[in-house]
Amino acid sequence: MKNNNEDLNVISKTREWKLLYYEQGKPGLEDGIYKGLCKHCDITNTCLRPRHGGGVWHCKDFISTKKRGVYDVVTRQFNKAAELMRLDSNIQKILATTNNEIVVHFPVKMDDGRIEVFTGYRVQHSNVLGPYKGGLRFHPSVNLDEVRALAAWMTWKGAVVNIPFGGAKGGINIDPSLYSSTELERITRRFTYALGSNIGPEYDIPAPDVNTNAQIMAWILDTYQSTVPPNDRQRTLHVVTGKPVESGGSQGRDKATGQGIVFNIEEWAKDHNFNLKGATYIVQGFGNVGSWAARLLKRRGAKLIAVEDINGVIFSPDGIDPNDLYYYTKSDHGSILGYPKAKKIDHETFLSTKADIFIPAALENQITKENADLLKVKLIAEGANGPIDPESDNILAAKNIDIIPDILCNAGGVIVSYFEWLQNKRSEFWELNEIDRKLHKIIKFAYNTVMEKSRKLKCDMRTAAYVVALSRLEAVYKERGIFP
Ligand code: NAD
Repeated sequence: MKNNNEDLNVISKTREWKLLYYEQGKPGLEDGIYKGLCKHCDITNTCLRPRHGGGVWHCKDFISTKKRGVYDVVTRQFNKAAELMRLDSNIQKILATTNNEIVVHFPVKMDDGRIEVFTGYRVQHSNVLGPYKGGLRFHPSVNLDEVRALAAWMTWKGAVVNIPFGGAKGGINIDPSLYSSTELERITRRFTYALGSNIGPEYDIPAPDVNTNAQIMAWILDTYQSTVPPNDRQRTLHVVTGKPVESGGSQGRDKATGQGIVFNIEEWAKDHNFNLKGATYIVQGFGNVGSWAARLLKRRGAKLIAVEDINGVIFSPDGIDPNDLYYYTKSDHGSILGYPKAKKIDHETFLSTKADIFIPAALENQITKENADLLKVKLIAEGANGPIDPESDNILAAKNIDIIPDILCNAGGVIVSYFEWLQNKRSEFWELNEIDRKLHKIIKFAYNTVMEKSRKLKCDMRTAAYVVALSRLEAVYKERGIFP
C-alpha cells in the first residue's frame, strides 16, 4: 500500500470517527487529518465497524483533496468564456457568486438507538431563468466547495439547453453504504425537514444524483407533503423530480441522462461522419448515468470494452454486454468486480485503453494533468459533472480529442426533470416516445447551437457552451435590471 502524503486532507467529524475506527492501530493518522492512501493503490479494505458486520471500503472513497478545487474549476471555465464573449462585467460579478448557501446539521436516531449528527448542504447559485434546480448527492466527499461548483454547473446547464430553471445542488456528507435502509430513510426525511422552506415546487426542486435515487426522492416528497397544510399537498407533487413513476415520476427520467449522452454522441457522429456501428467505448462509473449510457450506446451498434466503478475495472476486447453487466451488478454482487466474462485491469490501464469514445460518468476531477496524456480516444462525452480539469482540457485538445462538455452532454436528466415538473403541474402523464422525441429535439438543437458557436468563435465546445449559456443569462439580466 502506497502512502501518499500529498493527499493530506482535513475530514469531517463523522468521517474522522469512521476513519479512526477503520484505521485503528495503524500509524499515520492525526486528529482531524487523514494521511490519504494513494488513489491508485487498488486496495480494498474491510470495515471494522461491528454493527455493519464488516462492509467493504475502498480507499478511493476517502480522498477528496483533488476535489477541493472544484469551484475553482468552474470559475476558470466561466472566466474563460466571459472574457471571450466580453460578458458585461457587472453580470460577471453576479454570476461568479452563489445566491444562497444553506448548511444544516441534524441528528438522526440509528437502528441501535445511538444518535449521529449529519451535515447537509443546499447551494442555490442562480434563479434568474426559473426556480432553482439540481440534484442531491450522498457521498463522503460532499462539502461546500463541491456543492457550490455543482450548483453553478446546473445554472449553465439549464441555460445552454434553454429550459426555465436556475441552478442549485445539495447533499449530505455521508457514505450511504454504511447505513441500513431504515437509517437512510430517517436521514433523508430529517434532512428534508431541516431544509424546510428552502426547497419548494416553485422555488427549489431537488432530484437524484450520486448515491441517491427514486426511492430517496419519494421519501423527500412524502416528508415535504407531510409538513404543508392538507389543502396544499396535491399542489406540491413537483417539489422533487426523479420520483418513482407510481409516485408522480416521469416515464424516461431514469434513463434520461444516459439517453441525452447518446443523443449528443449521435450528433457528434453525424457531424464527424463517424459510424457508431462497431465503434468501441469505455465507461467510468456504472451507476444511473454510466449504465444507461452504456446500454443505450450498445443499441447503436457500438462495443463496450472496459468499465470502471468505485471497486475496480473490467476489460474485454471482445466486448462486454452492458445489459448483462447491469443485471450482474443488480444481483448480489453490487459492483462490476468479479464479472466472469471480462478480466480485471488497473486504473491506469483503463485510462490508456485504445477506444473511440470515453464516457466518464462517476465523479469530478477524474482527468487531471497527471493522467490526461494516457487517454487514447477520439471523443470524451462527459456524463459526470466536471470530470476534466482545465489543464487537461488543453492537453486533450493538443491530442485532438473532442469533448462534449458536461453542461450539454449530461443535460438529458434535467430536461426530463423539467418534463416531470410540467406533467405534475398539469396533472398529465406523457408517454415514453413523446418524452424521447421532445428530449431529442432539445438536445439536437442545443448541440448544433453550441457546435455553430464553437466554429464561429474558433473555440472548444466547452467554452462555446458557456458562451451560449452566459449570453442567455446576460440578456435576461439586461432586460430585467437589478432590483431596486
Ligand atoms: P450513481 O451513484 O448512480 O453512480 C456513480 C457510479 O460511479 C457508481 O458506479 C460508482 O461505483 C462510480 N464511482 C464512484 N466513484 C468512483 C471513482 N472514484 N472511480 C470510478 N468510479 C467511481 O451516480 P449517477 O447518478 O450515475 O451520477 C454520476 C455522475 O453523473 C455524477 O457526476 C453526477 O453529478 C452526474 N449526473 C447525474 C445525473 C443524474 O440524473 N443522475 C444527471 C446529470 C449528471
